[in-house]
Amino acid sequence: MELQEKTDKLQKLFQKVDQQTHDLSCKASLHCLPGCGACCENPNVESTVLEFLPLSIELWQKNQSEDLLRLLNKTEEGTSCILYKADPNIPGNGRCTQYELRPLLCRTFGYAARLNKYGEKELATCKKISLDQPESIKRAQKLIDEGLDVPVFSEAWLALLDIDPGLATDRYPMNVALKTALEKIGYWRDCSQSDTLENHDYSNQNSRSKKNLF
Ligand code: SF4
Repeated sequence: MELQEKTDKLQKLFQKVDQQTHDLSCKASLHCLPGCGACCENPNVESTVLEFLPLSIELWQKNQSEDLLRLLNKTEEGTSCILYKADPNIPGNGRCTQYELRPLLCRTFGYAARLNKYGEKELATCKKISLDQPESIKRAQKLIDEGLDVPVFSEAWLALLDIDPGLATDRYPMNVALKTALEKIGYWRDCSQSDTLENHDYSNQNSRSKKNLF
């Protein structure tokens, strides 16, 4: 699959998950707490490299990637996502500086479903939402039981694997996944601008796919 096709498929998957979470939120009156950045502040959050490809392409196209790579190289292990900007006035609050192109996992922060051992969908939400909106939680689970189409972690991961198993199998801390994606896109970009393009092995990417993007 060419790079362009992969990013198109990723964008469609992002849109689908956004629509599903939007529907669940509206129908169950379920929402993240205003300004809450708890998920992004968690240094244990992990993503695949694949999920960061659309953002990495955009950052290279906007000439913002090299500064970010320098910052990532100086970032210590165990640091939370560097794309997060904490609110200096309210501890625990903040925002994603790359919200539109954030990874798939980030689109399920707050609420999505997991399969239990019987293969049934169970709402997965954070403690803050559980405590703040107990009635909405019950409503959301009822809607899920009645068949509302919601994002399911295992299904989302399978969809990622279908797009690129090589880049979707392993999960890494956010900063590692972002750095790897930026480096990969940078490498492909350099090669696409080289006269010797056809002499390289791009792991399933051909020259046309990269020239489409850069
Ligand atoms: S990419 Fe954005 S939404 Fe995802 S963890 Fe980082 S700051 Fe949060």
